[in-house]
Amino acid sequence: MTYDLLLAGGDVIDPGGGHIGRYDVAVRGGRIAAVAPSLSRDGVREVVDARGKLVTPGLVDMHTHVHPAATYWGIDPDPIAWYSGVTTWVDAGSAGAYTLDSLRAAACGFRVRVAALLNISAVGLTAADGELRELANCDVDLAVATIAANRDLVCGVKVRMDGKTIGGNGLEPLRRALVVASAAGVPVMVHIGVAPPTVDEVLRLLRPGDIVTHCASGLASGMRRSPASGAGSGTAGGLASAVVEAHAAGVLFDIGHGSGGFAFDVIEAQLKAGVVPHTISSDLHARCLYGPVFDLPTTMAKLLAVGMPLDQVIAAVTVNPARALGLPGGIGTLAVGAPADIAVFTVEDAEVELVDAHQHRRYADRRLVNEATYVAGRPLPAQLPAPPKPWIPLTEAQRSALRLRTERVRDLLTTPLVGPDGLAEQFPRRTSA
Ligand SMILES: [Zn+2]
Repeated sequence: MTYDLLLAGGDVIDPGGGHIGRYDVAVRGGRIAAVAPSLSRDGVREVVDARGKLVTPGLVDMHTHVHPAATYWGIDPDPIAWYSGVTTWVDAGSAGAYTLDSLRAAACGFRVRVAALLNISAVGLTAADGELRELANCDVDLAVATIAANRDLVCGVKVRMDGKTIGGNGLEPLRRALVVASAAGVPVMVHIGVAPPTVDEVLRLLRPGDIVTHCASGLASGMRRSPASGAGSGTAGGLASAVVEAHAAGVLFDIGHGSGGFAFDVIEAQLKAGVVPHTISSDLHARCLYGPVFDLPTTMAKLLAVGMPLDQVIAAVTVNPARALGLPGGIGTLAVGAPADIAVFTVEDAEVELVDAHQHRRYADRRLVNEATYVAGRPLPAQLPAPPKPWIPLTEAQRSALRLRTERVRDLLTTPLVGPDGLAEQFPRRTSA
């Protein structure tokens, strides 16, 4: 029994599959065939030397927006996946019942895997916000039926609870999302932001296993203990006690960085109070792709910078999101029989400057640089993203960086690989003839 691919001698961190240490990882037929300290090279089609590299399961980004050409926020994941190691992209509510079919069609064209959280609003994230201002769009029966008919794609319900999105509808969209999720047997992912409602109003309604994204938001109202409140309402690090209690009760905390959902001082207060995020997601979309998020490994570096250990960070982008959403077949692990989704990184030991959504800076002493990303045992090819859409606001610095990149890529791809001296005479001629 031989293998299609053998990643040899890498430093494996696979918390879900139980492999931590130096291993060979073998792939056959698009699946993990074996993981062992030393596997036979006999007849292996391709051996890749992974010594000195970090090898992990393909990353699972639990909060992304990958419905381009149909929504304000959407991006194509493939041009980012190949250099970031993210092989499963969970779309967090881009599509509702009216638009899920078109998300499915888009996902069929991607090389990466897509799972979806169905927006409780049937119109999803077509526009920048406001999808819950009209309660007629939050049709419980329709959402339940849509999930039942799309259980291969949908693994949860998404609801954005902030003032701009809900208008005057209070907690009703969240209540409806919870009814749908209970009926479908899936979790709710709730986005928190600027009130109304406040964070404690939201958290009080969540069940164990439900997910609060933007969990370290600097904008969400009621995350910190208010100075005026009594002694019982706060905890170490100045967090509101509702936050600590929800975490202890089994509500899952997800980073969901995005353009406004992550603040260093909030995550630091949470870690001090023992409120460790279960999952690290990027909330990558068209407005944060060129900063401050860039990609999931950059978000992971921010959690390393505030002191989360590397193996915990890896778990939070592999097995933890896979379990939270009940993703099938061993996704997020290197268990034998799981899809051969694999990421290979160099761990760069160098100081890296990082910013949160509010341009506050922290420094990490290392970061992961992706070297290769495999989906079902095949490496993703390099690919450039499409230019940003005209409604995406960018600074002049972002625009000129994009122009510079285009020039460099053009230069790289149009410069001949070798000069005339590097060529062989392809059809040798006898000069005397
Ligand atoms: Zn989002």
